[in-house]
Amino acid sequence: MQNGLEGHKARKRFGQNFLHDEHWIGRIIAAINPQMGDTIVEIGPGQAALTRHIIEAIGHETAVEIDRDLAAWLHETFADRLTLIEADALKLNWQDVHPEKRLRIIGNLPYNISSPLLFHLMNVADRVIDQHFMLQKEVVDRMVAQPGSKVYGRLSVMLQYRYRMQKMFDVPPGAFTPAPKVTSSIVRMTPLPKEALLEVDTERFSVIVAAAFNQRRKTLRNALSKLLSQEAIESVGIDPSARAESLPVEAFVRLANIKVTTPS
Ligand code: SAM
Repeated sequence: MQNGLEGHKARKRFGQNFLHDEHWIGRIIAAINPQMGDTIVEIGPGQAALTRHIIEAIGHETAVEIDRDLAAWLHETFADRLTLIEADALKLNWQDVHPEKRLRIIGNLPYNISSPLLFHLMNVADRVIDQHFMLQKEVVDRMVAQPGSKVYGRLSVMLQYRYRMQKMFDVPPGAFTPAPKVTSSIVRMTPLPKEALLEVDTERFSVIVAAAFNQRRKTLRNALSKLLSQEAIESVGIDPSARAESLPVEAFVRLANIKVTTPS
């Protein structure tokens, strides 16, 4: 452990599992491939396992850390080479983070908040170049899952609507202190360019996707009964007896774009 941190006990409530294995740290940095001029924003730098390599490579990083003790240590250690935002990444208004720059966001994320954080970051996707995250393998498998897969669900559809997803590689529990109970994976998320986004009311899309997967064994006819009639589902060329897990992202967009007329 580095100077000034000898007393730091990993805090469970902040999802602290620190990377210590240089082999895996090196592979993650290589996947990120930091370039001079990049604006890299790290969520949860912790004890700087990734941070120090980014700073070595490009001279500077911006980071968001919730743990005040770690933030004080990071500030002392890296001074003006690190722009530190002491905040909860879930509550942070990401529009205020280097508003004039395009961001590359990275992080070995606290697993307890990973899904809400991924959704929160969608607010800034139009300004993001890419995101590289370490998450539980099980979550990454759901993020990249394709229709027909058992783990294809709401997370897959919502994220794949906005990002190109690539699972990079798995990282074993032994790479961390303390070791988590599960295997982790690195995922790369690249926002799709605006022109490639299918036009849809994102709120309606989100409601349809959530309802369709709420009881994934139900047919669309039943799962969406409160939102769309059987005829409406058929009108966009989708079989009402199909299940949500068989539909590609684009089919959910078609369902969300059905004009619903409320009886007067
Ligand atoms: N990046 C370090 C590494 O790879 O060893 C630490 C990773 S650890 C899994 C997660 C880090 O996120 C911790 O430093 C923790 O304090 C921080 N953290 C937890 N919840 C956070 C939140 N809501 N906002 C910002 N940082 C958070």
